[in-house]
Amino acid sequence: MSIIDLIFIAAGAVMALLLAAFAWTSILESRPRAAFIGMGFLICFSTVWFGGFSILSPSDSIVVITLAVIAIPVILFFMPLGASKPIEIGEITEQVDERDVMFSREEYNSGSEKYNSYYAMRPENKEVDDKLRELPELMAPGGKYYDPVRSPYTDAIFKVIHGMVTEVDGEIEPVKSKSSPETMTARIKQFAHHLGADEVGIAPLNPMYLYSHVGRGPEPWGAPIDNSHKYVIVFTLEMKYDHVEAAPSLPITEESAAQYLRGTMISLALAQYIRDLGYPARAHISGSNYQLMLPPVAHDAGLGELGRHGYLISPRFGARIRIGAVTTDLPLITDKPIVFGVQDFCDRCLRCADNCPSASIPRGGKTDVKGVRKWPLQVESCLRYWRLIGTDCGLCMKVCPFSHPPSLVHNLVRVGIKRSSFARWISAYGEDFFYGKKVKF
Ligand code: SF4
Ligand code: SF4
Repeated sequence: MSIIDLIFIAAGAVMALLLAAFAWTSILESRPRAAFIGMGFLICFSTVWFGGFSILSPSDSIVVITLAVIAIPVILFFMPLGASKPIEIGEITEQVDERDVMFSREEYNSGSEKYNSYYAMRPENKEVDDKLRELPELMAPGGKYYDPVRSPYTDAIFKVIHGMVTEVDGEIEPVKSKSSPETMTARIKQFAHHLGADEVGIAPLNPMYLYSHVGRGPEPWGAPIDNSHKYVIVFTLEMKYDHVEAAPSLPITEESAAQYLRGTMISLALAQYIRDLGYPARAHISGSNYQLMLPPVAHDAGLGELGRHGYLISPRFGARIRIGAVTTDLPLITDKPIVFGVQDFCDRCLRCADNCPSASIPRGGKTDVKGVRKWPLQVESCLRYWRLIGTDCGLCMKVCPFSHPPSLVHNLVRVGIKRSSFARWISAYGEDFFYGKKVKF
């Protein structure tokens, strides 16, 4: 047997193992279509490759040509080819007012002081918001997925979080602990991981990502937000794959609430620890006590890129994450934003837009939103759909190809997407082919 024959057999074995790994991963992920196609490919490939070789005994030149046919796309998939585009952030022209955020607007009950003040300021939002408030609240009777036993679970978690919204700040120890920024950065990240964070990053706090005015929570509604901290510590928490796969229905909302609770505990503990070291620190927690927008600060902290659906996409967990943050003046070493092919991939992939039941995600290109080039989400129709079904929706998070759990095959695809525009192009088609263009729910 010649060297060329041995290379041929080894290449075939690697391909067959990868196909088997893909089929097995798909079975573990409860993806029957992908598992079926993967096994079909495995059987066809092994039969043609090894059967053809042993029966036909092809000449060396045929073997070399066959190897090249397989090797060329594999090389194109992993070689650096076509730069990944970063998110284009120009000069941000205006801060977002938290009073305009949909989760604030849905709370302005007709006739209340907030209602009258807000719609005097933004009359153009009144009609759509009035219609939204006519629908059942999330987790309340009347929503499609309301369950008298399960729905109160999520409410209970948020009640616990709400009980902590006044604990985000506090007394600062008068004596400052003296440690280098390098030591403190390592310590903060280590403690955040110890508390349960999956990924941690640090960014300079861009004041344009702070809300301009309070829209929810215990602080006076409409008060200007004053936070001059220099840094923001941001962390992500992975949401369980099987809960996200159940979207849109109760399990994704239960998982979301559970991760918000974890995020709250981590933020509060980190902020308290930093204040005990003698430096100002404020936790930003769910239950309406954020002072900033989490996805852009997480991007600045090197935790991911923003996708077409508006969620942060983490390199490890995709969109299956919740984010938490602490702002502080504790001197720290900052991380840099990362680029791993998301902007380019989203240009080709439309899975979130195609599967969004409320058509809230744009199918076209990006537009300029206050200095940031992005895909603008229709938040009104998105939240309207949530209230129709009575839970979080999360379909866009579920169908996003980056949300596959880490595994050998998915990680190899991620490497390709990061490096090669060929991989980004073929993976966008491959996702629809293996998993189906539209999900059933
Ligand atoms: S959460 Fe659901 S309704 Fe909202 S944008 Fe995503 S897919 Fe559309
Ligand atoms: S589903 Fe596709 S287009 Fe939407 S965010 Fe994910 S990768 Fe981008």
